[in-house]
Amino acid sequence: MDSCDVLIVGGGPAGSTLAWKLKNRGLDVLVLDRSTFPRDKVCAGWITPATTDLLQLDKDEYSQERVLQHISGFRTSMIGGAEVVTRYGSTVSYGIRRSEFDHYLLQRSRACLRLGEPLKTMVREKGVWIVNDDVKTPLVIGAGGHFCPVSRFLRMNRERNESAVIAQEVEFEMDESEQRDCRVAGDTPELFFCEDLKGYGWCVRKGNFLNIGLGREDNVNAAEQVRSFFDYLRERERIPLNTPAHFRGHAYQLYKGASQNLVADNVMLIGDAAGLAYPKSGEGIRSAVESALMAADVVLSASGEYQRSRLLDYPSLLARRFGKGGAAPGILPQAMRRFMGRRLMESSWFSRHVLLDRWFLNIHQPALG
Ligand SMILES: Cc1cc2nc3c(=O)[nH]c(=O)nc-3n(C[C@H](O)[C@H](O)[C@H](O)COP(=O)(O)OP(=O)(O)OC[C@H]3O[C@@H](n4cnc5c(N)ncnc54)[C@H](O)[C@@H]3O)c2cc1C
Repeated sequence: MDSCDVLIVGGGPAGSTLAWKLKNRGLDVLVLDRSTFPRDKVCAGWITPATTDLLQLDKDEYSQERVLQHISGFRTSMIGGAEVVTRYGSTVSYGIRRSEFDHYLLQRSRACLRLGEPLKTMVREKGVWIVNDDVKTPLVIGAGGHFCPVSRFLRMNRERNESAVIAQEVEFEMDESEQRDCRVAGDTPELFFCEDLKGYGWCVRKGNFLNIGLGREDNVNAAEQVRSFFDYLRERERIPLNTPAHFRGHAYQLYKGASQNLVADNVMLIGDAAGLAYPKSGEGIRSAVESALMAADVVLSASGEYQRSRLLDYPSLLARRFGKGGAAPGILPQAMRRFMGRRLMESSWFSRHVLLDRWFLNIHQPALG
């Protein structure tokens, strides 16, 4: 039987960041993922500079063989409404491809990897987990995303599924004629808010790749909503006419507070498994990375003693960072839904200072110190 100091279930940004931090501090870390890498992940692939800073990403090295699209503005509107273009004059975000980004981070972590192997069983014996009847470890970290099996084990899944965002997207590489036909600029992603403000669609161009999607807080007529958004984009003639409509769906949870159930004896949850995406924008990569860094601090200071009481600092750190939660989560705040609408979205001031700076770019919240 194998053994390791920490076994991480899931090699997405949360799992690979934690593996990277713990490995650098000398721990023997094993990452188990049901997929083989590089693997794709349903995601627009928009990340803020706080995320690249936290990851200490060497952008020159990264971009030598991978897409790193610099973003310096946004085009925003209600679907069917007047569009506002906000330009920053410098890079305020990046576009990445998850197949490349996640693979890079996982390789960089230097952790032992068991890829193509799902978590099947975890049994606790005398304070030690036996995972898949084959690996012995004192600490299991659930980083398996929204449907993380470790989170199911902690019975966190039912509560999370009740307020999940349902999102669908398509990402494809454009050929030369499609690149010419595509009027979406790489440095200016486009965001289109639904009339009821319960979600938004996007067009994000990353080099030769185009990512189109729609995320909503409800699951009512999801396929119909996506289809009509797609038709709208085609009518606007900003995307290539033969853009494929093979949408893939996924769900994830917006942050609504850090429950103490995110830890148990010898177990912790991070990233989407803990339900941490920013409520107003749906950005989840940054909070996945930040939760991993906070978890790393708690693991290191626990010095191998992983009873629940030694891990409770983790939900406290999350609450300090992301707030206590409690208010109904949502892509857009309730107040805005009730009292504001189309006219506000057409205001250049509102689009820049509130919608983008505050809700999407979170410029008031610097990277975790
Ligand atoms: C359509 C859509 C668009 C999005 N766009 C953005 C965006 O532009 N920017 C942004 O910041 N966030 C975005 N998000 C959210 C973002 O994708 C997630 O918050 C982020 O991927 C969370 O990272 P993670 O490491 O926690 O989980 P994941 O990235 O989901 O990784 C989980 C890993 O666990 C593995 N796993 C799952 N089950 C098992 C199992 N049983 N055994 C072993 N391994 C398992 C999976 O294979 C996967 O590799 C989007 C989400 C969706 C659905």
